[in-house]
Amino acid sequence: MNPTPDNSQSSEGSSGSDPAIESTENTEPQLVPLTALPDGRMSSSESAAMSETAETAFQQDEDSMALISEESTPLEIVAWGLKRFLDQKKIMTTSFGMEGCTLIDMCSKAIEQNDLPKLQVAWIDTGFFFPETYQLREKLEAKYSNIEIVRWSTDVSVEQQKETYGNELWKNNPNLCCHIRKVVPMKENIGGFDVWMTGLRRSQTEARAKTPVLGWDWRYQLLKFCPLATWTRAQVWQYVQQNEVPFNRLHLQNYPTVSCFHCTRPVPGSTPDSDARDGRWEGKDKDECGLHFSI
Ligand code: SF4
Repeated sequence: MNPTPDNSQSSEGSSGSDPAIESTENTEPQLVPLTALPDGRMSSSESAAMSETAETAFQQDEDSMALISEESTPLEIVAWGLKRFLDQKKIMTTSFGMEGCTLIDMCSKAIEQNDLPKLQVAWIDTGFFFPETYQLREKLEAKYSNIEIVRWSTDVSVEQQKETYGNELWKNNPNLCCHIRKVVPMKENIGGFDVWMTGLRRSQTEARAKTPVLGWDWRYQLLKFCPLATWTRAQVWQYVQQNEVPFNRLHLQNYPTVSCFHCTRPVPGSTPDSDARDGRWEGKDKDECGLHFSI
């Protein structure tokens, strides 16, 4: 394990520049919008080459699937992606936030409607999740038989972390704690996948504001697929209610988002449709764990 966090700067937010130039000038360029999907099946290296095309609509697929654009509904985008990347190795990651639960429901529906194979969904278990989160995972497993939930985790136990880095690393150096318990397991497991699906939304944070629905992730070298990118939290909450999607009951107790119990606090007045990440890493200048952006 490399315990040193990656402090290189993200190139996120440099829209308008040529991504081909970004790839040579920056140490770690990340997402660039992908427009044209190439004809035929796509390897990771081919899709990297395609990232030189920078617009925000997708071309019609070789199999004449429906034309997909940012105006398409997330469910249409999910179905398109699962069919378009049928032969690619796909993984969805989630910490069982409301967006992740929504995406699981959409994937399950798309799989059922299109007779597609099971999808693997990985969650990175930090060892610090609320009991409500573990209960939610069990509910999701019971409800969605065509989704296979797999657990990724660090091999550094809570006790080893305490012995090596002292008590309460999450207070003293939360970036290092997130690196050990989230980023390292991610890096150890994501290799070999071609497509990474997440529930990222643009309105969650400033850093996420330019998240493309489909883009090339330079850090992990795969396609990153964010079908909920254009949605607001209110739309997610409406979908959850209308489709009876299981969700973390802590959202009903003023938690806008839910992560590790050491770093998540309720926010007075917050409701399940509150579009905020307040309550995370209280008092710290931090609103990302490092999975999606370098910290
Ligand atoms: S969210 Fe907090 S407890 Fe969880 S891994 Fe990050 S710093 Fe550690």
